[in-house]
Amino acid sequence: MPLASMTEIIEPARAAGRGVGAFNVIGIEHAEAIVAGAELAGAPAVLQISENCVAYHGALEPIASACLALARSAAVPVAVHLDHAASAELVRAAADLGVGSVMFDASSLPYQENVRVTADVTEWCHGRGIWVEAELGEIGGKNGVHSPVARTDPGEAAEYVAATGVDALAVAIGSSHAMLTRDAVLDLSLIASIRRAVSVPLVLHGSSGVPDRDLAAAVEAGMTKINIATQLNKVFTGAVRDYLSAEPAVVDPRRYGAAGRDAVASEVARLLDVLSAGSIVQEETVGPRELAVGTDATAGGAGEPLSSVE
Ligand SMILES: [Zn+2]
Repeated sequence: MPLASMTEIIEPARAAGRGVGAFNVIGIEHAEAIVAGAELAGAPAVLQISENCVAYHGALEPIASACLALARSAAVPVAVHLDHAASAELVRAAADLGVGSVMFDASSLPYQENVRVTADVTEWCHGRGIWVEAELGEIGGKNGVHSPVARTDPGEAAEYVAATGVDALAVAIGSSHAMLTRDAVLDLSLIASIRRAVSVPLVLHGSSGVPDRDLAAAVEAGMTKINIATQLNKVFTGAVRDYLSAEPAVVDPRRYGAAGRDAVASEVARLLDVLSAGSIVQEETVGPRELAVGTDATAGGAGEPLSSVE
């Protein structure tokens, strides 16, 4: 299948009231697992490369090229996205490599400065057909910032989207980056208010800290792109740790790497099933997707927030 654009994935999902899973890549095993999980679920997905991931590898091109190649050979639509780029130079480098979607993150800047630099980057990207996500109301958990109390104002969000021309907006509604427990409390009524005020798709960051039922509720309330990073890292590392504990003599990275990759693929498929519930199925009293979500919730502890191992 050819490389999918973000628009091709986001717009049908938004129209149907479904969420789109956007998963952060660390190494090639992550990217392979995310594509395998999407194929298992029969759902589109987004491979995301963050500026921090680029810093880890020391360069964008090797990991971006791997993601683009995997997306092109996937059996379901897969887009490649640059996540949390604070540097316009990195946005240009991604564009040169064929990455068709970027998040430009100027959320740490004062409002007017955020608008000015984001509008500039967006104009440049749109001239090249690149989809742009930006953030308003700094979401906690990155760079030492921990503020799950940050909130995006609906009126300011509408003004910001109009002033910058961005294609999607990441909003602060109660989640926080890098959470190891899944007990974040989302402000669902604020999601609905922002949804009514803003015409572009909304993006949930820090979704790893949100329990399954609240992810489905956030989609129903109006979120479309759901970014998930830490949850996959927990699953990958847990599987590798278990494998090495059981097989302490193993030295071949392919052995424990495959254990991590298989576990991430299953988790991606499971999360995509949760996100695809959407408003259409939510309206039904008993639907197959709803039953599937209910089964997951039961496995996690009869309606309790899923534990940190989930
Ligand atoms: Zn984020």
